Amino acid sequence: MKYALVTGGSRGIGRAICVKLAQMHYFVLINYKSNFSEAQRTLEIITEQGGKGALLPFDVEQPDEIAAALADWQQQNAESYIEVLVNNAGIRRDNLMFWLTNDDWRSVVATNLDGVFYITRDLLKYMLHRKFGRIINIVSISGINGLPGQTNYAASKAGIIGLTKALALETAKKHVTVNAIAPGFIETDMTKDLNVEELKKLVPAQRLGTPEEVAELVGFLTSENASYITGQVISISGGL
Ligand code: NAP
Repeated sequence: MKYALVTGGSRGIGRAICVKLAQMHYFVLINYKSNFSEAQRTLEIITEQGGKGALLPFDVEQPDEIAAALADWQQQNAESYIEVLVNNAGIRRDNLMFWLTNDDWRSVVATNLDGVFYITRDLLKYMLHRKFGRIINIVSISGINGLPGQTNYAASKAGIIGLTKALALETAKKHVTVNAIAPGFIETDMTKDLNVEELKKLVPAQRLGTPEEVAELVGFLTSENASYITGQVISISGGL
């Protein structure tokens, strides 16, 4: 059995990625923070389709919680390792910089950027030892171009892009690829408070993307066919 871990797999883009990886015959570890019922729903979708998975809750901000959850899993699965890691969990707390509180800054950077470091560091040694791994980080076009009201979010995503490029250079010779996917506007809970009709006008494709479209790209980057792609940031944004 091959194992994949998707952070923030309870909803939105993460759920679609979990379903896609299960269709690719991975046993999917569905991480979430607090939304048990939605995480359970992701698992139900997977099992209804004949796939396999399990819930693995932890808060990506908490290194001790992450280390304990991963060590526990590793102990129970001593012969296996997690060969695909999708760092997808993320939050946004938008405001113009002069209104941003210390907590708005800290929580967004802690969830989006610090979490990627803690989890990736803990799983990397197994990938390097087994000489195969796929790390896919979900960033945002905001981390490439910036968006007003998102200095905290854009900084966190730009930080992940730097991590992606540097880590790819460290791991390429061990067949561990590290890439980032930068979605534009995707229909999920994260965008439901935004004015969708106004957003559509900004997008050359004149629509929002779907979580499934992002998941297809994750599926490709996970596959053997993507072995020579590493250190890249690939946008999926309808031309935005
Ligand atoms: P979403 O629907 O709001 O779902 C967020 C997911 O992250 C949930 O599963 C949530 O778990 C999990 N999460 C949040 N904080 C966490 C924490 N501290 N520890 C563990 N899990 C945590 O978001 P989405 O739209 O699918 O976004 C997924 C990723 O894509 C994010 O990194 C986001 O920045 C990025 N992105 C989204 C868009 C977009 O337009 N939607 C565009 C560009 C980039 P619970 O259910 O337990 O809360």
